[in-house]
This record gives sequence, structure tokens and C-alpha cells, in this order.
Amino acid sequence: QFRAIVVDTETDAAGVIQQTAGLHLVDDDSLAPGDVTIDVQFSSINYKDGLALCGKPGVVRVWPLIAGIDIVGVVTGSTDPRWSAGDTVIQNGAGLGERLNGGLAERARVDGASLVRLPDGLTAQQAAAIGTAGFTAMLAVMTLERQGVTPASGPVLVTGAAGGVGSVAISLLAGRGFEVHALTGRRAQLGDYLRGLGATHLVDRAELATVGKPLQTQRWAAVVDSVGSATLANALAQTNYGGVVAACGLAQGADLPTTVMPFILRAVTLAGINSVDAPLALREEAWQRLARELDISQLEALTTVIALDEAFDAAERILAGGVHGRTVVDVRA
Ligand code: NAP
Repeated sequence: QFRAIVVDTETDAAGVIQQTAGLHLVDDDSLAPGDVTIDVQFSSINYKDGLALCGKPGVVRVWPLIAGIDIVGVVTGSTDPRWSAGDTVIQNGAGLGERLNGGLAERARVDGASLVRLPDGLTAQQAAAIGTAGFTAMLAVMTLERQGVTPASGPVLVTGAAGGVGSVAISLLAGRGFEVHALTGRRAQLGDYLRGLGATHLVDRAELATVGKPLQTQRWAAVVDSVGSATLANALAQTNYGGVVAACGLAQGADLPTTVMPFILRAVTLAGINSVDAPLALREEAWQRLARELDISQLEALTTVIALDEAFDAAERILAGGVHGRTVVDVRA
């Protein structure tokens, strides 16, 4: 048997179906179908894990399900020829914690095809600190670069700046020489933190929080957005002619109250970022670049490590906007 955070449903006294989450002892029958068995070392708390652990709909699609969209661990058995016992591997997304049993457990069985080998230069705990959020930030940076954005293009806005995706995006962009402007609702508390990651300007979240004109003064060569909704609409309206906006998330909302004006009058590109279904070659490229380019001392500075039974508190805090940076779960602790 092994410990796992299991999301399930129950019907309350009023007959309403509620989603629950609890720490349980489960046996190997609970493992997902797959060709690689892993002793999980670390997982993490992303926004999606917060939703799953706090009974919110939209992430977990089958019940009961072991939560956790990230896994870093050691292979104990494999029928996939790419993997052998003792390999340290990473899996992000690919259905984990949504339709397949995930990483908030001491053991997992996964599909070897979407596993990435721990790159040289990173420890297992550092890889979990990067996790889906950092992997997504790297996918966004790669997308901007593929669209031709360079440090000479001008300032880049990172929204949801103190969050997991935002924090890693700031560090990566600043490390590559971009002038990074950080949009945050926590300027007073976390201004020093964001400057420490490399942001040179802080923008108050309120400036972009309500729907504005479809075209506004041009401010950004590119945007990495975790927030969606009016913030994304305003970011598009403030993006320079020919600029690129990478849409990663929906912390403010899934709506997008904009018009076609930024696209047809400013030639702005809105690029979608999806970490869950990223093909293997892209996963491997992103992880190699993370290992080479992410400043490890900054990664350590933005990371908090918790034990498995502390995941519930961390989930509540991430939904309440009270977490900054990344939260690693040491599943053996
Ligand atoms: P997170 O750590 O909670 O970061 C979200 C940040 O957004 C918060 O720290 C906060 O930053 C800001 N924020 C929160 N509520 C807001 C609001 N109402 N209005 C404006 N800003 C708000 O979450 P995360 O793990 O980085 O994920 C961020 C988003 O990206 C989530 O929506 C997540 O689902 C999505 N995501 C998508 C992918 C993908 O594959 N596309 C992958 C990972 C994550 P400040 O305090 O600095 O304002």
C-alpha cells in the first residue's frame, strides 16, 4: 500500500454531488494503466491542483482519481524500452491528475511515451520546483522567440507575475536580456521578490483589470499572460504593432472581452500555450533549455517545500492568491 491524495465524489444531505479530496492508503490496483512504474519523489501545487484539492470542478474528469499534474520520481519497472529501473523521470500534464492517476502519491504508473529524463544540471526537487508552471513558462518564452521577439523588440509584460508561471517567466526572460515588466496585485508585499527575479518595472494589476478600449497606447513588444479575461484583452490592446501575446492561463477568467482590432490594425499575434498535450520533442527541448537557462539560485528563492499532508492548505492558499512562486510537495515527507 502507499499514500495518495484521492479525489472522489459524495452526495451531500441535500442530494447534491460534491467533490472531495483526502489522504488515503491505497494499493497497486489504484495505479493507472501504463508501461512505467515510478516511485514518486516530488510533485507540486499548480493552480489546477488547487482546484482539484478544493472540490472545484473542471480539472478532475473521472472519480476516484489520484490528484497531481506533476511527477518527478525514479523508475522501478518498465516495459517501455526507453526506460529502465533507476532512471529519474519527469512527467507534466499528459492527463495526470485530470483523467489519469497523478503525482500526489508515493507511487505512480504512467505512459512512458510522454516521460522526459531528468536533465543534467537539475536535481529531482528542482525539476518539481519548475513543474508544469515552469515548463509552461518556457513554452511561452519559446513561442515568443519563434515569432521573432528579441530583447531589442522592446519590453515584455508578464501578468500574474508572482504566480508559478509568472515567476519562472520573469526569471527566464530577464536571464535572456529582456526588459521585463511585471503585472501584479501584490506590488507592496512582493515588489522586492519580483525585482529579485529580474523585473525592472512593476505594473499594478488594477491598471488592466477592467475592460478598456480595444486599441490603447502601445507599450509591449510581447506579453506572457496567465490571467485571461479583461487583463488579456487590455494586454492585447497595449501590444505594439507586430507584437506577440502568449495566452497561458485564466486566473482572472476564461472570457476574452476584446475585438479583432489588435489583430487587424496592429498585426498582433495571439499565441496559445498548452502544456498538457505538448508533443515529446517539445517537452524535451523545453526541459533541456530549463536546465541550461534557469538561474538555480532564483529557482530556489521562489520555491517552498511542503509535505504531502500539507498539500490541502497549499491548495486553498493558491486559489486565494496567497502563494507566490512555486510549491514543491515532498511526497515521502
Ligand atoms: P498561480 O501560482 O496561482 O499564479 C496565478 C497568479 O495570477 C497569481 O499569483 C496572481 O499574481 C494572479 N492572479 C490571481 N488572481 C487574479 C485575478 N483575479 N486577476 C488578476 N490576476 C490574478 O497559478 P499558476 O500555476 O502559475 O497558473 C497560472 C494560470 O495559468 C492558471 O490559470 C493555470 O490554470 C494556467 N496554466 C495553464 C497552463 C497551460 O498549459 N496553458 C499550464 C500551467 C498553468 P499576482 O499576485 O502577482 O497578481
